[in-house]
Amino acid sequence: MRKISVFDTTLRDGEQSAGVNLNFEEKMEIAKQLERLGVDIIEAGFPASSQGDFQSVKAIAETVKGSSVTGLARSVQKDIDAAWEALKSAEEPRIHLFIATSPIHMEHKLRMTPEQVIEKAVESVKYAASRFKHVQWSAEDASRSDFPFLAQIIEAVIQAGATVINLPDTVGYTTPQEIKRMFQYMKQNVPSIDKVSLSTHNHDDLGMAVANSLAAIQGGADQVECTINGIGERAGNASLEEIAVALNIRKDHYETETGLILKEIKRTSSLVSKLTGMVVPNNKAVVGANAFAHESGIHQDGVLKNKQTYEIITPEMVGVSSNSMVLGKHSGRHAFKTKVQELGFTGTDEQLNNIFKAFKDLADKKKEITEDDLFALMTEQTVGGETNHYELQALQVNYGSNLTNTATITMKLPSGEVAEEAATGSGSVEAIYNTLERLLDAPVKLLDYRIQSITGGRDALADVYVQMDYQGVVSSGRGTAHDVLEASAKAYLNAVNRTINRKKYAEVYESKVEV
Ligand SMILES: [Zn+2]
Repeated sequence: MRKISVFDTTLRDGEQSAGVNLNFEEKMEIAKQLERLGVDIIEAGFPASSQGDFQSVKAIAETVKGSSVTGLARSVQKDIDAAWEALKSAEEPRIHLFIATSPIHMEHKLRMTPEQVIEKAVESVKYAASRFKHVQWSAEDASRSDFPFLAQIIEAVIQAGATVINLPDTVGYTTPQEIKRMFQYMKQNVPSIDKVSLSTHNHDDLGMAVANSLAAIQGGADQVECTINGIGERAGNASLEEIAVALNIRKDHYETETGLILKEIKRTSSLVSKLTGMVVPNNKAVVGANAFAHESGIHQDGVLKNKQTYEIITPEMVGVSSNSMVLGKHSGRHAFKTKVQELGFTGTDEQLNNIFKAFKDLADKKKEITEDDLFALMTEQTVGGETNHYELQALQVNYGSNLTNTATITMKLPSGEVAEEAATGSGSVEAIYNTLERLLDAPVKLLDYRIQSITGGRDALADVYVQMDYQGVVSSGRGTAHDVLEASAKAYLNAVNRTINRKKYAEVYESKVEV
């Protein structure tokens, strides 16, 4: 069967989703999970766009060995140089170059003639090929480009040293029939096409990203670009899990295979959802909470008699566990360690001790500790590496339906001194946030607040996500605790500390470019 390479761009295109800003530890954690999932290529970022992106691409290239790591670059020398510095220590240095090829982009955005675009593309590919073993070249807005021109520029960049040609549907405009025809056209009209592999990259503006990706594969694409949970610019990218499972379930039809470990899908989806704050809808294919729930009586009856009557994907295939109790109050250190290692924990002994302590605290309050709980505790530890300039020490809330709600908070300030404040609010969370704001040096505008329980049951862990504008920066934060009020305070301070850290490392969030 034909092997399809999976190119994951969660950390580049996915990270361009509105409201998503991952820090260094979070990007690292996602990259390690993508490696476990078995993706062939990880696009780790855009090294020339900011110091933060540069550092994380470099660290991921140095750490991840099971997947090839790449970074995005415009067709200019300074971007290629930045990409080389970030990626040269990777096992297989790989760059992703792009330039727009559609009439509207060339005329209005680039302000270049088609001939100038070819010249620039060739020049940048030659320069990149003098360093990188693998040069992927993308024709931005390929689906709205003139096909004969596209064929001409593709031939020219192959001659210049490109090894992969990507034809993106940048604006989510194409249809399955059209994209299949585009790939077939290039196969027939580009003389050197057999020297390279072809890649597809689709956006979901018309809800056809996955269908278009599959049609492109039928038209001759050997590589598919996608993101976990389909996150990305605007309506997002084609979602990895849907493509992976479609290719697997419909092997009879597509006659292709991927190297993905499908049972890592659910965990990857949960991790990305948690760290980005992008919630997965219940009805989302493959990874939604209801994807395997049979509600109608006729369906339930059928499934009881024979699962295959209404179930084409088994939950086990994509790693959805029954989530039964795994550990309890009396579980020992050894059982605990074995379990977290099974869940993929690879951190330090100190982190392991901290998770064990958090586990014991939770086990005092919650009878059954599930895999999801353990996973939440693990993630808190491994990616909670923010320096805490503001640190919550004590929180007390007075609530009554006929009372003025008051919060009293003791907090360690960046100066090291400990301060106490109290404020009121129309609800408990508002009282807490009003109090916290008094302790900060700048006002906060809360943009979003969401709460979720990690597992079912009255004693579940609470997961709070906030997005705020603080010091002129939009930042998000998360907090997990057994109590919703404590989780709310933690999420708020997490967002504040992230903003301070980001400013401190002077990360310049400039040109996030769309491909
Ligand atoms: Zn894109």
